[in-house]
Amino acid sequence: MSFIHERIQQTCDQLLEIAHKTLTPIEMEYTPCESYKKGNTPPVEGWMPFPAGMRVRGMDAHYWFRCALRTPAAKENTAYYLRFITGYEGHWDATNPQGLIYANGRMIQGCDTNHTEVWLEPDTDYTLHNYFYIGMIDTWVPLEASLCALDLKTEKLYYDMQVALDAALLQHPNSDEYVALLTALEQTANLLDLRDPGSDAYYTSLDAALDYIETELYGKLCTVEGKPIVNCIGHTHIDVEWLWDRDQTREKIQRSFATAATLMEKYPEYKFMLSQPELYRYLKEEAPEKYEELKQLVKEGRWEPEGAMYVESDCNLISGESLVRQILHGKDFFRKEFGVDCKILFLPDVFGYSAAMPQILTKSGIRHFVTSKISWNETNTMPVDCFLWQGIDGTEIFTNFITTQAYTGPEAKRGTTYVGMNSAAEIKGTWNKFLQKEYANRALNTYGHGDGGGGPTKKMLEYQRRMAKGLPGMPVTRMETLLNHLDDLRAEFDAGCHKTHRTPKWVGELYLEYHRGTYTSIAKNKRGNRKSELMLQLAETLSYTDLLAGGSYDAQGIYDNWTKVLHNQFHDIIPGSSIKKVYDHTDQDYAQIAEYCGNVIGSKLTAIASGVSAGDGILVYNGLGFPRSGAMTLNGVTRELAEEIPAFGWKVITPAEPSCGVTVEGLTAENKRYQLTLDSAGRIASLYDKAAGRNVLKAGSLGNELQAFEDFPRAYDNWEISDYYKQKMWVLDGDAEITPVTDGSRAGFRIVKRYMHSTITQHLWLYSAVPRIDFETEIDWHEHHQILKAAFPLDVLASTATYDIQFGHVTRPTHENTSWDKAKFEVYGHKWVDISEPGYGISLLNDCKYGHNTEGSTLKLTMLKCGTYPNPEADQGIHRFTYSLVPHMGDFRAAGIIREAYSLNQPLVATEVVSNVGSLPNTYSLISCDAPGVIVETVKKAEADEGMIVRMYESFGGRANAVLTVAPGFTKAYLCDLMENVLDALPMEDSKITLNLHNFEIATVKFVR
Ligand SMILES: [Zn+2]
Repeated sequence: MSFIHERIQQTCDQLLEIAHKTLTPIEMEYTPCESYKKGNTPPVEGWMPFPAGMRVRGMDAHYWFRCALRTPAAKENTAYYLRFITGYEGHWDATNPQGLIYANGRMIQGCDTNHTEVWLEPDTDYTLHNYFYIGMIDTWVPLEASLCALDLKTEKLYYDMQVALDAALLQHPNSDEYVALLTALEQTANLLDLRDPGSDAYYTSLDAALDYIETELYGKLCTVEGKPIVNCIGHTHIDVEWLWDRDQTREKIQRSFATAATLMEKYPEYKFMLSQPELYRYLKEEAPEKYEELKQLVKEGRWEPEGAMYVESDCNLISGESLVRQILHGKDFFRKEFGVDCKILFLPDVFGYSAAMPQILTKSGIRHFVTSKISWNETNTMPVDCFLWQGIDGTEIFTNFITTQAYTGPEAKRGTTYVGMNSAAEIKGTWNKFLQKEYANRALNTYGHGDGGGGPTKKMLEYQRRMAKGLPGMPVTRMETLLNHLDDLRAEFDAGCHKTHRTPKWVGELYLEYHRGTYTSIAKNKRGNRKSELMLQLAETLSYTDLLAGGSYDAQGIYDNWTKVLHNQFHDIIPGSSIKKVYDHTDQDYAQIAEYCGNVIGSKLTAIASGVSAGDGILVYNGLGFPRSGAMTLNGVTRELAEEIPAFGWKVITPAEPSCGVTVEGLTAENKRYQLTLDSAGRIASLYDKAAGRNVLKAGSLGNELQAFEDFPRAYDNWEISDYYKQKMWVLDGDAEITPVTDGSRAGFRIVKRYMHSTITQHLWLYSAVPRIDFETEIDWHEHHQILKAAFPLDVLASTATYDIQFGHVTRPTHENTSWDKAKFEVYGHKWVDISEPGYGISLLNDCKYGHNTEGSTLKLTMLKCGTYPNPEADQGIHRFTYSLVPHMGDFRAAGIIREAYSLNQPLVATEVVSNVGSLPNTYSLISCDAPGVIVETVKKAEADEGMIVRMYESFGGRANAVLTVAPGFTKAYLCDLMENVLDALPMEDSKITLNLHNFEIATVKFVR
């Protein structure tokens, strides 16, 4: 059958050319638009002619264009449209020119390089406006408009033939399917008379060809019976900030929604799923009339608001409480606006998934998890893509990977995509890639251009109609909502497991073997996020305490500030992969959050201090769920408290003058626990643990050695660390300026190191009683394409290290035995990391860092990584952070490492008390827990009423029988889910409740007065 398919392609090309006819060019006028438009009314003045051939430019710039025209009279088999051409058709969606079209004052659709046709009614006068965004390209951009006509029947035959041809070319040339399809297509082509397109003879032949292909190919050859199904849902992936800022996202969602809604008018079967309430909120604020249209589509079941989280958030770096709030705020919005209770967490593009998530999702009423990103692994291929994902606590959540991938060609070797093109190759590829075929008969394809590329196109919908008929050798496509797909898949999966006596499962984190630089890039945002999370939690606790005492709780203010935190946890913001403009904006957000929380915390402390019954002294407040003493800085002096401050409470104390139990002589500092000696470069030459009677550092090695590495990853500069970075290391071993320092009850050294154009200043502190060795660090950084690490070669033998994550911890290998172990050459940990052998170990704590690696028993903290794309100024300037080394005898759990890490992150706060007789006691605890392994982390006002929500978790990975004691005044307690829905009443006696918590279990209790 030589050249038959080439000949059919030739016919298809002819039909496409015949179908579209340019009637006339349209003259336009234009006016520059200084900044982002407000409202949807075009300017009245300032219009200038925009003759053919004229161009505009300006990266991230806007222009208004307008034109007036009358469409021709209605004609059978003909549709009219205005075509806008920029010359950038087919370029990258993320940077392309994009326009928003208004027809006679009404927003009708977006217009971008994938959607160039603006559909018009016949016989109508139009004034059209195009609010035009140049995109992130810095070159001249032309814009041409022309009125065109579409021959509908010719277009129909074009798609009938082209889709079948595309499907045929995916089959083996000797297969029955290939032969049958090409034979039918050849017969169709033979019926066509292409000598005079538009003539009666042409249309007569067109009708015959349409009849033939309908009957012989789509009728006789196609079937849906017994075929695998690829469920297709229209989607547009919109990064809420990335190569553009949040104002541009407000435009992208308007264009994307308008385009989808317009196509829905023409394609009644078209269904669309969109995640991220923030995008909906933007649409509601910018174009309320369009938002009403969206609500109607939701009612009709054609538009699916799903996805659960407020934004598609990073899941490596944000705290457990932040994961809960992402879902709480997200579900809250969807429920209030659409009456929808989300059942799916949809995170197609997030850079790894914490092992805490199965429990968090399940306890938030989520029953399915969907992603595709793990297919981007550089090294290993996941053995499952439809499975139960088991988290650290044992909870399992049903998980489905989007398996969209081209069937052949170079794309077939890459990861799967969440921005499918709905091509025949991708539909066959989606089913081909799906691994659990013996368990289920359906795979998932989310299709549509993302990032302002406007979602699905007319072409995708035409392909869908034909592939839904079940072409030979192809799976059958269905337009299906995500929830229906997942519910059906789950039912099949369960039956498949029952039948095979096997259950596909993945235990532990879904670690992405890629984008490992995102644990560290843009360090200021990692800091801003950690500090904001902790300040908001402290503000909530103090506010609730004040509420009990007759004060107020600014629920709206706290909610709004959480929303800012949640926005900035988006999967291109906190990972550090956005442009500078985005981070200028987040600087303001974090400053506002700090100001707000500072005011709340300050005013609540003052209110408490003025309400206590006490003499002159200091009111010390403990914002953590366990009693503690430890270090506290007041009026610039650090003291270690002799007395314990109650959990979530205060004590009024009379502070003694601090005495220092640390001696510093030459390069040696010593307290009752350690003897520490520096070398001339400021590194730790020896660290002797007197209590344990052993050296902390490996013999002959140096601790807190700062190491710089050249960092030019293979791709994705600010996202990536490529493992070859280790081969080029420069040790900061030049002489440092070392001076002794004292501060109240602590003492140590100030160590200043110069490195290239940068200065690193560290205060190394030993305390009188606190077991930490702190490294308070300030770096004035002016290097690019380098990684800076602090290394601790430790004298322990351990094949795994333990890393703090959300509501628990995970272990990861310290070796490279397998490809899976080796791929974890850079990993994240939250507040602490530990390497232990039986009887002894060393923990490394931090107050805003995440990136770590281990090389045997050498533990390294990644302090900075500073690529230049997409932000050439990434990580330049001042960085402040603290990390702490804590050697310990016995197990890290028993040694109190988890509590110590919380204490470093949420220090005691204090305010002065002037002798006062008030109604509040001088010692108080809002809530405490007697189980050492249970961390009570969150105390807040319930979203729905004035009840007190208390969230805790079992932090050791074992079992706990915990008695919680609350302040007087509460009469009832209820066990809740993470969304604060009441599940069970809990017996309460003498202000105490008892909870039995299993391994890493999260529990939420609501106390009511
Ligand atoms: Zn994304």
